Amino acid sequence: MAAVESEITIVGGGIGGLALALHLHGHGISCRIYEAAPVLKELGVGITVLPHAMRELTALGLGQTIEALGIENTESRFFNRFGQLIYAEKRGRYAGYKVPEIGVHRGRRALPNRSRSF
Ligand SMILES: Cc1cc2nc3c(=O)[nH]c(=O)nc-3n(C[C@H](O)[C@H](O)[C@H](O)COP(=O)(O)OP(=O)(O)OC[C@H]3O[C@@H](n4cnc5c(N)ncnc54)[C@H](O)[C@@H]3O)c2cc1C
Repeated sequence: MAAVESEITIVGGGIGGLALALHLHGHGISCRIYEAAPVLKELGVGITVLPHAMRELTALGLGQTIEALGIENTESRFFNRFGQLIYAEKRGRYAGYKVPEIGVHRGRRALPNRSRSF
């Protein structure tokens, strides 16, 4: 019988699929990712990496890299069109989480050129 390269298939190379693949890789388990999009491209001005995502990315060893790329959010504030404050809440570590909430503006800094093979 031919050797099975990998029994784990991940459909979708978004953050969820790639994070799963990295976690599996960290446990010495290979996998194959299938992605429908022909190329991976940025979407939007940037991204807010929320504490639950930072927890997972920190577990993958990426926490410090992401912190260095962005700014730590301390608070979210919402205003009406007259500039009056509607609502404010602390974010990330300032709200009691163990990990920060990081805002990354993709136009300002580029990710370090890293590649990983599985
Ligand atoms: C404009 C915008 C801004 C956002 N900003 C933020 C933010 O600041 N912070 C935040 O936490 N979240 C943000 N989100 C939400 C965040 O993008 C999603 O929660 C996240 O991308 C979900 O990740 P995922 O891997 O589950 O799915 P996706 O990122 O949707 O990845 C799924 C992948 O599967 C592929 N796929 C689908 N079907 C198939 C198939 N049959 N075969 C092969 N591949 C397939 C798709 O092409 C896609 O690449 C934003 C979303 C949008 C649209």
